[in-house]
Amino acid sequence: MVIKKVGMKITKAEFAGSSTRVGQVSRRRLPEFAFIGRSNVGKSSLINMLTGNSKLAKTSQTPGKTQLVNHFLINDSWYLVDLPGYGFARLPDKERARLRHIIWDYVNNSEDLVMLMVLIDSRHPLQETDRRFIAELGEKGVPFGLIFTKADKQGGDNLERQILEIKGKLLEEWEELPPCFVSSSVRGTGREEILSYLESILQTL
Ligand code: GDP
Repeated sequence: MVIKKVGMKITKAEFAGSSTRVGQVSRRRLPEFAFIGRSNVGKSSLINMLTGNSKLAKTSQTPGKTQLVNHFLINDSWYLVDLPGYGFARLPDKERARLRHIIWDYVNNSEDLVMLMVLIDSRHPLQETDRRFIAELGEKGVPFGLIFTKADKQGGDNLERQILEIKGKLLEEWEELPPCFVSSSVRGTGREEILSYLESILQTL
């Protein structure tokens, strides 16, 4: 059998609005792929790398960056959704609860969410906030994939070892692993694989 690789070229990526609640902004009913991870995991950089637009998602360095659900319309045919980061260490409880509410309102109520891409920093062992978030996705039956970010920050052997360790931790709770990708926004690593994967899912819808 010949497996054809389905590529995706992003020819158009435009900001399509921010919200704090599903249904707050009226928009087209199109498939949505959402991206989430701990603050500083490299989510904005990854979104910009994937879309080929260095200014689309606001990076952590942007002053006054607000935490909202941001929709980006891609190729006039699907939405890339940038969710607020979770696991901020230094936030007051009230603000953390507000973000949690925004995140779970989207994950629980978006009828167009196809899959959530959970970003994990490839440099560290599995963090408790990540483990807990992923476990919650499992309980709710939300389809998700994993992207190990910042792959350029360590050499091949260390990178591989760290990722294997994270996967091993997850396999203590999960029977099998979800689709996993490795990315570097600096080097463009993972771009083809991630976009081809999203395209292959879009083709099944
Ligand atoms: P966010 O808070 O998850 O949106 O994270 P950002 O995209 O703003 O990135 C947080 C920090 O990590 C910034 O200083 C980025 O320049 C850096 N960063 C993000 N992705 C990468 C990557 O792939 N490689 C390297 N070396 N640094 C990265």
